[in-house]
Amino acid sequence: MALSPEIEQAVRARIAYFRDLGVFDFYRRDYATAANATDTVTNTEENDAAAPAAHLDLETTPLMPSSLTLIAETQKAIAPKDHAAALQAIRDDIGDCTRCALSAGRHTIVFGDGDPNARLMFVGEGPGADEDAQGLPFVGRAGQLLNNMIVAMGLRRDQVYIANIVKCRPPQNRVPEPLEANTCSPFLFRQIDVIQPEVLVALGSTAATYLLGGKSPLAALRGRIHHARGSKLIVTYHPAYLLRDPRQKKEAWADLQLAMTELGLKAPAKSQ
Ligand code: SF4
Repeated sequence: MALSPEIEQAVRARIAYFRDLGVFDFYRRDYATAANATDTVTNTEENDAAAPAAHLDLETTPLMPSSLTLIAETQKAIAPKDHAAALQAIRDDIGDCTRCALSAGRHTIVFGDGDPNARLMFVGEGPGADEDAQGLPFVGRAGQLLNNMIVAMGLRRDQVYIANIVKCRPPQNRVPEPLEANTCSPFLFRQIDVIQPEVLVALGSTAATYLLGGKSPLAALRGRIHHARGSKLIVTYHPAYLLRDPRQKKEAWADLQLAMTELGLKAPAKSQ
């Protein structure tokens, strides 16, 4: 079956990406084997609930699930003392990246920031104007709110790790196109594989979609534990959304309390 031009371009980009990693041999498993191997993609509860997502046609579906399988096969545990160097190696691989169209409008690649051995990792959608200017994730108004959320959990920002699905700012802060997100997210997956956080928090539906390998309404994903790349995954609102609709902060706090329970954290006592 002929591939559409978009899928063919995505395949070419993905193969180039794996060649960058030094992976040259590819094979295609039959669907049943691949489906069983992609726990993080097809065995999620929301995919069970949404039957079509559990029966992906690998010829016609964008490459998220199959590419996740390939990356999982190259995944190896890295000693904590080597995490910083391993993250730097990923940054070196990215280089002055032009693998997707977002490179045209960016000023700075926003790789990620925080503790290479963090127990908790936040994943957002993509850099905004402040992040693009400074080269750091979540440094604008939404970042300040995220900082407040982290402090409310009894942590400091330098004790967690923060990254995004895409590392270059989408024009006008639009949602990344699937081709852009599928091209860039393998770098994020490698970061997660290095850090091996106990808990991932997906900030908003774009992060949840690419971490889980399938799209579901945010309301259907919140309030329970998912799994992605060996970590527990909790889904909550993006801080930028909370700035627009502060009434949802209470719901977001409930999501963060779920993460705190998993991490054995207690909220700091409020000062009198
Ligand atoms: S978004 Fe990612 S893949 Fe696209 S150019 Fe930037 S670093 Fe490269």
